[in-house]
Amino acid sequence: MLTKEPPLQLIGGEAVPAASGRSFAVTDPATLEHLADVPNGDASDAAAAADAAARAFPAWAAASGRARGRFLFKLSEAMRRDDERLAAIITAEAGKPLKQALGEVRSAAAFVGWYAEEAKRANGTVVASADPNRRISVIRQPAGVAAAITPWNFPLGLLARKVAAALAAGCTVVAKPASETPLIALAFAELATRAGIPPGVLNVVTGDPEPIVGAWMDDRRIRRLSFTGSTAVGQHLAREAARTLKRASLELGGSAPYVVFDDADIDLAVEGLLLSKIRNAGQVCAAPNRIYVHRSIHDEFVTRVRAMVDAVGVGNGRDPQSAMGPLISESALRNVERLVHDARAAGAGVYTGGRWIGTPQTRRGWFMQPTIVTGVADDAELVVEEAFGPVLSIMPFASFGEAIARANDTRYGLGAYVFTRDLDRAQRAAEAIESGIVGINDPLPASVEAPFGGSKASGYGREGGAEGLAEFLEEKTISLQLRGER
Ligand code: NAD
Repeated sequence: MLTKEPPLQLIGGEAVPAASGRSFAVTDPATLEHLADVPNGDASDAAAAADAAARAFPAWAAASGRARGRFLFKLSEAMRRDDERLAAIITAEAGKPLKQALGEVRSAAAFVGWYAEEAKRANGTVVASADPNRRISVIRQPAGVAAAITPWNFPLGLLARKVAAALAAGCTVVAKPASETPLIALAFAELATRAGIPPGVLNVVTGDPEPIVGAWMDDRRIRRLSFTGSTAVGQHLAREAARTLKRASLELGGSAPYVVFDDADIDLAVEGLLLSKIRNAGQVCAAPNRIYVHRSIHDEFVTRVRAMVDAVGVGNGRDPQSAMGPLISESALRNVERLVHDARAAGAGVYTGGRWIGTPQTRRGWFMQPTIVTGVADDAELVVEEAFGPVLSIMPFASFGEAIARANDTRYGLGAYVFTRDLDRAQRAAEAIESGIVGINDPLPASVEAPFGGSKASGYGREGGAEGLAEFLEEKTISLQLRGER
């Protein structure tokens, strides 16, 4: 058994079913087997969670950062101790190979541990006043209740980083995970309770997004929205959040350029694709979506990538031989198939099927072969929008200026990658590309200590680093007018 049966929501410190008594099914995308029934919460569950978080806020906000950090340390340690069980839950409901799931658990625990430290550092500033009799200080206080809405592709990592930063800052949290992957969120909530995090400080509601998130968007006590997901839903929620003028942090979609210059270490650039694109079957917001390779090495690069792709074992994530699991759902698979089909119809060359494949272990899950597409037009939807699948679109370029112009010819601005041995070229490219993060010869540039987030249609706000804590704090200026003797 993966989780406590039946899995329950966490509201006000209690493990509870949906107020309506209804539930929904969670399915394994590798086998299409039924995994569990999870509470189908609605607006009344959302209201109960918001009430609990609002009640818990004053005491949690008043505790010292050090005291809050101690709870987070305990939670981080509990996650590390339970890493294999947590990884098995992620593999079951999200499909990714166990090794990658274990990596996600450890990264999530590292975020919680890092914010346990950062909780002590919500420092303010002292401002020199123009008036010799005035003393000005700026303090930073917890913003209030925060709503955390997360997707299915890193179902623990993305939830843990929001919750850790919010709790460290002194906010209390209402969270709603994606309906594809609620089990890991409920397991995380259970660990938080066992770590002693007081009732109401973290609440997790599962169910249809509109009634739950809609109720929170109308609630004036909720002062922050921290959302990770698609650009379309992010734009919708930005409008909803505007009704009560909540400050929002939106981590949205991307279409990352991966630029390989003619002097690059080709082995490194090819291996980098395995790490950044085959990982999670390409269902990563910052995954390379447009691979620009200098024309003098383009053909060799494609040949090397083909050899790598042929060696990728596709199968159930529980099998240690599998380097790539299934896509999350049939609709995700059909969408990637359509994008590849349309690119091919417009003249692109497609290597490997670009379609649904059965595997020896299971002929049912949503598996897709890694697919290489060459000669794709710059305006093909496959590269204009995020493919969110294991499709490597490789395109030649002729000059530095062309590579940068094409890298920036997108509505998105999240991740970017540059491969070159020339330091000058690397730095100039990194500065010129419009994105929130750039990896120079680094296929996995995100880290706990540094901010991660996007620009343009990839959203605004940052997670990780001191910036991630700041999202949940409110600045207050205190001005003291001195009247006494000098
Ligand atoms: P999604 O936008 O469909 O869903 C994300 C979350 O929002 C889920 O919890 C979902 O239930 C909820 N939601 C959906 N519709 C809603 C509505 N109308 N009102 C309120 N809530 C709603 O995204 P997804 O398919 O789960 O995740 C994939 C997307 O997430 C991709 O676009 C990917 O690029 C993006 N993503 C971004 C980052 C980042 O850090 N920028 C990280 C991971 C994923």
